[in-house]
Amino acid sequence: MAFKKIFICTQCAHESPKWEGKCAGCGQWNTMIEEIIERKKDKNVLSNARYTKGELKPLHEVKSVETVRMYTPDGELNRVLGGGIAPG
Ligand SMILES: [Zn+2]
Repeated sequence: MAFKKIFICTQCAHESPKWEGKCAGCGQWNTMIEEIIERKKDKNVLSNARYTKGELKPLHEVKSVETVRMYTPDGELNRVLGGGIAPG
């Protein structure tokens, strides 16, 4: 298990290996926060778990929940809905 420390902008989600007073992505000042990324290598499957430090919780973090589609047993309905029903 390896941990990597990066800095991510709370405004535009720009990532940088080092802290920057001014974000290179959006040009805002003091928007970079420290973030620890846990990298798990298991049978070539790479999954990242992120832990955000600091009081700011970027919106993109909250929204970046995996989209899970629920498939109905009715194939015809699936086609009509375009591949399944997205919950929410
Ligand atoms: Zn930015």
